[in-house]
Amino acid sequence: MASAVIERYESRIGRRVRRLRIRAMKSRWGSCSTSRAAITLNLDLARLRKELIEYVTVHEMAHLVRANHGAGFKALMDGLLPGWRLLDRELGGLPPVLCYLQKQAEKARR
Ligand SMILES: [Zn+2]
Repeated sequence: MASAVIERYESRIGRRVRRLRIRAMKSRWGSCSTSRAAITLNLDLARLRKELIEYVTVHEMAHLVRANHGAGFKALMDGLLPGWRLLDRELGGLPPVLCYLQKQAEKARR
């Protein structure tokens, strides 16, 4: 599922994902290493509906272009996946936080 999403969005984002890892994670749904162009997704995503899996995958891919959750990131997401804000809210109500970068961005804002 996630690799199909990656294939679909790579050309739109203009970046290649060099490595996709899927593993059990307690604290987040996904993470992105921008320097290695590597995306890690939480194994538990498989339990969620496909729109949410797509959202997390595209979200992490978007970090290859914008390594924060600022206005540029949001505008990029608006272009890629117009319904992402609703999906983000839905996912926000579920236990792990969306991604590691999110926590850093929140810290930076304080
Ligand atoms: Zn993020």
